[in-house]
Amino acid sequence: MENSIFKCGALPEFKKFTPENINKEFPNIIEKINLDFKNIEDFLRDYLKQKSLDWEKVINPLNEVNEVLRWSWGVISHLNAVNNSESLRAIYSKFLPEIISLGNKFGQSKVIYEALVKLKKTNNLDRIKNRILDKEILEMEHRGISLEKNIQNEFNMISEKLGELSSDFSNNVLDATNSWYLILNDKSQVNGLPERVLELMGISANDHLKKEGDVDVENGPWKLSLDIPTYSAFMTYAKDRSLREKLYKVFVGRASQGEKNNSQIIEEILSLRTKQAHLLGYKSWAELSLSTKMAKEIKNVEKLLEELRKPAFEKAKYELEILDKFSKENGFPPSEELKPWDISYYSELLRKEKLNLDQEELRPWFPLNDVLKGLFNLSEKLFEIKVVQANNEAPVWNDDVLFFNILNKQDKKIASFYLDPYSRPESKRGGAWMDECLNKNTVNQKTLPVAYLVCNQTPPSKDKPSLMSFEEVQTLFHEFGHGLQHMLTTISLPQAAGINNVEWDAVELPSQFMENWCFHKNTLLNIAKHYKTGERLSDDNFEKLVNNRTFNCGMATLRQLHFAITDLRLHSNIDIDQGKTSDEIRREIAKQTTVIPPIQEDQFLCCFSHIFAGGYSAGYYSYKWAEVLSADAFSMFEEANLENSQNIQLIGKKFKDTILGLGGSLSALEIFKLFRGREPKTDSLIRHLGLSESTS
Ligand SMILES: [Zn+2]
Repeated sequence: MENSIFKCGALPEFKKFTPENINKEFPNIIEKINLDFKNIEDFLRDYLKQKSLDWEKVINPLNEVNEVLRWSWGVISHLNAVNNSESLRAIYSKFLPEIISLGNKFGQSKVIYEALVKLKKTNNLDRIKNRILDKEILEMEHRGISLEKNIQNEFNMISEKLGELSSDFSNNVLDATNSWYLILNDKSQVNGLPERVLELMGISANDHLKKEGDVDVENGPWKLSLDIPTYSAFMTYAKDRSLREKLYKVFVGRASQGEKNNSQIIEEILSLRTKQAHLLGYKSWAELSLSTKMAKEIKNVEKLLEELRKPAFEKAKYELEILDKFSKENGFPPSEELKPWDISYYSELLRKEKLNLDQEELRPWFPLNDVLKGLFNLSEKLFEIKVVQANNEAPVWNDDVLFFNILNKQDKKIASFYLDPYSRPESKRGGAWMDECLNKNTVNQKTLPVAYLVCNQTPPSKDKPSLMSFEEVQTLFHEFGHGLQHMLTTISLPQAAGINNVEWDAVELPSQFMENWCFHKNTLLNIAKHYKTGERLSDDNFEKLVNNRTFNCGMATLRQLHFAITDLRLHSNIDIDQGKTSDEIRREIAKQTTVIPPIQEDQFLCCFSHIFAGGYSAGYYSYKWAEVLSADAFSMFEEANLENSQNIQLIGKKFKDTILGLGGSLSALEIFKLFRGREPKTDSLIRHLGLSESTS
């Protein structure tokens, strides 16, 4: 395969990865992977007869074949996400089942499992190697590898059934969301909505009514629907209270009635998950889920969530009082109480009055080039690295993509990354993410780590550079944080380098950590200069951004805690064992995690796809967990005085040497303690969110 486009370990030549070429060459790669894998199994079967096994002979070949799969499928998935086309999508879906079955084959190979166990038993391996093995072995055990045959069959049947139930669950949510709509023709019904939203609703109305010609933003019709952008815009801006009520009730009641009812599916999923956990020797699904995470035990998660809940609850009560008073000063009937469908609307009015912040107006202060310069200067100061643009050194998939090298103190190249900054709705997936292009590898060949950073920010126009919103600036800092952990790794074993082998609930530490710098005055003011006049962002505008961060944070935090605690309790069996339904359990938790109790129609669990159709079961708490870690890490810089360059450099180096450098080589808790000198505390997050501020 000399001339193959699949040159594993090199920077991909993206433009050669046409659908035709992939279709022609990828089957050969899959065939080779299957063959290599079979050879490894054959070799191990024989090799297992030896008294003791050797790391290189077991792990290196496995790693090689895994890397071929990761690299090849990685390029295809990457292009599917950033350079999509109908033909590429078809090819992606065609190969996907084969990739999944390859993964299952690797993960459920008995002979590999036995080799890993024996390798661990017959060697006195160092901590990093032991940790890599422990994780592999545990993951295979969670796939049921060490169960007796008949129990394993039962286990596999449950897995299959759970797969079906999850997809039924998400289909019901999707159908329920898509099937409801109202065509509005009366101007008074859309009173208060910004023009941008009216235009979107006008376009959907025209599509729906198969109406040709331009959208009439002024006179309608407009289509009201349950998709998130429309729903949340309507709840935030629409003056028509009864329509807000109607919309709210349909939204929170999705997939809870009739044929598309998820209530029974929820109970079934929970009971099957418990059964699987029991088969694997765990008391509950939560215990199983936490066994591979940093939090480790249910009680640790409960403790952290409760520490946040108390101040958030007090703060939210206070925020509600303020909102109640404000609403009555602004036309809300004095004898009535605020209902759930009033909260977003009055919050937005209050936000406008209190902060007077128009985020759109600040864009001219954040042209992409200056933001990058500021981000790189900060990284240079904190982590002793230099970032230099090197656009001609690497093939790219789109002309807007930028390429950078990272140099160390001695000006030696240690890593590189691509940045694909702009949104391209026709061919690029939404959202932002970091992914691995090349992993650091010093075992066979010398490969430096290379990252993909993908954002979806506003593209430049004819006479303007890309002017970023403050939110887009935070997103860029966030993804760069993930990238730093991948690129600045000092671990030479690829299985534990960068983000590999980092516990799931700790991966957001470096990314959220970087976001904190956007709220540091000097950092931000050094970045924010008007792209035409060079004028600095005013102190006043900076204060507005800071205040906006904590505006109604009590209610927002409480909402996240409500989800996290409910998820944890549903999966830890205590209450279900007492014969309660999920909805009853949720309503009980709501007494301490909501300031307005859920109304009867509110069957939010029926569309809680994160935990019933996604990967977040008994893991929703991770959002808050990682936020605690990153806030606590940042507070070490604050304690040393953010304006003291010398101190900041010292702590920055420590952050680089521990959290960024050590990756998944030690447990996330050990690494955190190496950096912070103690276990994580919730105080800093409580302070950053403004939850501790006086509520009297
Ligand atoms: Zn992230």
